[in-house]
Amino acid sequence: MAQTHIHSTVDFEAPGKQVGHLAIPYSHNLAGWANLQVPVAVLSNGDGPTVLLMAGNHGDEYPGQIAILKLVRELQPEQIRGRLIMIPVLNPPASRAGTRLSPLDGQNFNRSFPGRPEGSVSDQLAHYLTTVLFPMSEYVIDLHTGGRSTDFYPCAHMHLVADRDQRRRMVAGTLAYNTDFAFLYTDIAGAGLLPVEAESQGKIVITTEMGGAESLPARLNRLSQEGLRNVLIHCGVLEGEFKTREDLGLPPTRWVQSLDREDYRFAPESGIYESLVDLGEDVVDGEAVGQIHFLERPDRAPVPVIAPKAGVLLGDRGPSVCAQGDCVAVIAHDVDPSVLE
Ligand SMILES: [Zn+2]
Repeated sequence: MAQTHIHSTVDFEAPGKQVGHLAIPYSHNLAGWANLQVPVAVLSNGDGPTVLLMAGNHGDEYPGQIAILKLVRELQPEQIRGRLIMIPVLNPPASRAGTRLSPLDGQNFNRSFPGRPEGSVSDQLAHYLTTVLFPMSEYVIDLHTGGRSTDFYPCAHMHLVADRDQRRRMVAGTLAYNTDFAFLYTDIAGAGLLPVEAESQGKIVITTEMGGAESLPARLNRLSQEGLRNVLIHCGVLEGEFKTREDLGLPPTRWVQSLDREDYRFAPESGIYESLVDLGEDVVDGEAVGQIHFLERPDRAPVPVIAPKAGVLLGDRGPSVCAQGDCVAVIAHDVDPSVLE
């Protein structure tokens, strides 16, 4: 099998706490022998699971990056059972630039799997995760938001993987986030996703969509951080008291799904998008969840974006300006509980 060219400054087999980086060969005009440094921390203490925790897969998704930066500083090996590997930002140039895609190679990191050892920076890091870090992990946690383009009702989400034991364990991990909604989603925009590669290796994959757009209120960061700690306790890698929603005085998580292509609503024309429904609000069959206005044609009526079936609005357009083909709304539907067992 092809060997990675990525060098790690941390030893994943050593006990204790280490903070370092993954060095990815990257040549540019002012530095021919440069390396892109992706920060990584590993805490290891005796027997237990290995949990790989990551954020910043898309640069413009910050609550997970903040949550992991805090854990890197705060956690000590005595609090760990097994091994916790943390990558606060998978795509540092994109995070610095406030972009979804890597400014270095233009790639969407979450479409770069399984990766290639001789490819772009994104290809190389994807290959390293696929061949080095996923195989050593039992749990793979990848924290997202909708980025600047989409605002989600803050939720943990997952794919409905075929293996029922893996699925049950992913359901339990998703529930441990204690979000109001848990979301079953499907890939409507291409292949090569990080979670799909980890799932195909049999890993227990836990992912989120913690809000999005530009506004990230304090409650969203709190939920990202407190939910994440509860997930790590659930995995058995972090000491602490596990809390259910009932313990927190909250109603049960509502499981919803968007598994049909028509649940994802695309702008039929370019224009200015007006949301007509709040996130988390129920909608009826045929209801307009938003409409597109045309600045150049004040006489023209806005074009509605319709919910094709009754459900709940789980994802909403971030920026008001939209282009034809942009996903502007995600409509979700209640889940038949038997699929979760
Ligand atoms: Zn994302």
